Amino acid sequence: MDKIIRCITKDGGIVASAMDSTKIVATAQELHKLSPIATAGLGRLLTGASLMGNQMKQKKAVLSMRVDGKGPLGVLIASATSEGNVRGFVQNPNCKTEYYPNGKLNVGKAVGRNGYLYVVRDYGTGQPYKGVVQLVSGEIAEDITSYYANSEQIPTVCALGVLVEKGSGKTMLAGGVLIQLLPGATMQTAVKLENNIKKLEPVTTMMAKGMGLVDMCRTALDGFEVEVLDESPVHYYCSCSKDRVQQSFATISDEDLRNLVNSKGKVEAVCHYCNKKYTFTKSEIENFIESRKK
Ligand SMILES: [Zn+2]
Repeated sequence: MDKIIRCITKDGGIVASAMDSTKIVATAQELHKLSPIATAGLGRLLTGASLMGNQMKQKKAVLSMRVDGKGPLGVLIASATSEGNVRGFVQNPNCKTEYYPNGKLNVGKAVGRNGYLYVVRDYGTGQPYKGVVQLVSGEIAEDITSYYANSEQIPTVCALGVLVEKGSGKTMLAGGVLIQLLPGATMQTAVKLENNIKKLEPVTTMMAKGMGLVDMCRTALDGFEVEVLDESPVHYYCSCSKDRVQQSFATISDEDLRNLVNSKGKVEAVCHYCNKKYTFTKSEIENFIESRKK
């Protein structure tokens, strides 16, 4: 079972979250038939969105992220609840996989960096909070770090990793850490954290060694007294329903809907997030057209 743990230092200067997202990323890979590079790109974004969503205190809040770097992967979308449950998709799931000379997946090239990372926090109040930052590298984690620094003025360290087996292309391990300085943290705290981060190994390296999430936080927060705040199980979760899919017909005219249903005898719609197919009969479409006249 995937999970997120959140820790705080006893001096109240730093919060840190660590996540095992292996199942979430494997599920996304299976649902969307993702190539290795698409698995790494979307997997990192899903992990980052889940970690960021999990920090929101408002119960029904939803955090959405969109990365558009004009690379061959196309647009990447992820959306997470305040529990950290997450879903997402990518425009070109079978994007060709390229590697850096050191053998690591070249996610930055596939995502591209000529564009932006958009973040929307919807608290259900009708006034979502929107932020945007120019992409730094397209590697996702650095872009999230830059987002926090520039859009929210929160000094942040974000590290995300997806390990894909070379031969089979299957997801082996995925995870992430998100560490933030709280207001009032001293310069001494900041320097100590920075030194720790320099020594921190990649997330999937730590996971492969068998380190647990608490171990990962303790390593990042070496020299601080650490208290575990909470632990949340998280999973790939899609909130789609026939009703919600029907709501998306709102932008289609009566005439176009009737033409659609008359040409095939039904209207089919597929959820981008989970590929679930919804079928609407002729009478359901007529009922919908009637209902929106009111
Ligand atoms: Zn769905």
